[in-house]
Amino acid sequence: MLDRTICGRTVEDFFRELIRFHGFAAPGLVLGGFLVDWAQELIGTDVEADAIVETTHCLPDVVQLFTPCTLGNGWMKVLDWDKFAVSLYDRRKLTGYRVWLDLDKLRSLPDLYNWYMRLFPKEDRPLDVLHEAILTAGRGPLSACAIRVTRLCERHKKQEIAVCPQCGEAYAASQGLKCLACQGEGYYEASTSSQIKP
Ligand code: ZN
Repeated sequence: MLDRTICGRTVEDFFRELIRFHGFAAPGLVLGGFLVDWAQELIGTDVEADAIVETTHCLPDVVQLFTPCTLGNGWMKVLDWDKFAVSLYDRRKLTGYRVWLDLDKLRSLPDLYNWYMRLFPKEDRPLDVLHEAILTAGRGPLSACAIRVTRLCERHKKQEIAVCPQCGEAYAASQGLKCLACQGEGYYEASTSSQIKP
């Protein structure tokens, strides 16, 4: 089993990169490796692929680590749907593949099913046991199909920018006459002391 590769890495290197990037090898990352690995194999190496990830948990990190798609370059979109699924698609033709965790298949793997459906208290699921179960299962609990992307495929264009008359910072003009923070939608209170010098 250790001579297999995941996303083009040996299992050892795969784990090392997960830990470096994510802090620890969360089971969702290891499982996510198999989704991305399969999607990459289906779409092939000569296609410039964009990614759509259907959960904010774990899977986006796998895509950012092992494909050229990142949140920052706009090639990966992340949907907060809590569905363990990823699509890679040709950004010009809009055709590609979706790979997802298939609950019908997962049911025959009770350790993984119970972990994924959060049916066990966390302390009953030692990490190494889950890792082993995921590595053994491989693509077993996954399904894949060819897709044509019909929405969400536009690359984010930079929007028009304005200068906020209150804080003086540049912001998206679509927010209105002041930036959202100055409209009371901010998430912070600035300390009353003056700005910190670099
Ligand atoms: Zn402002």
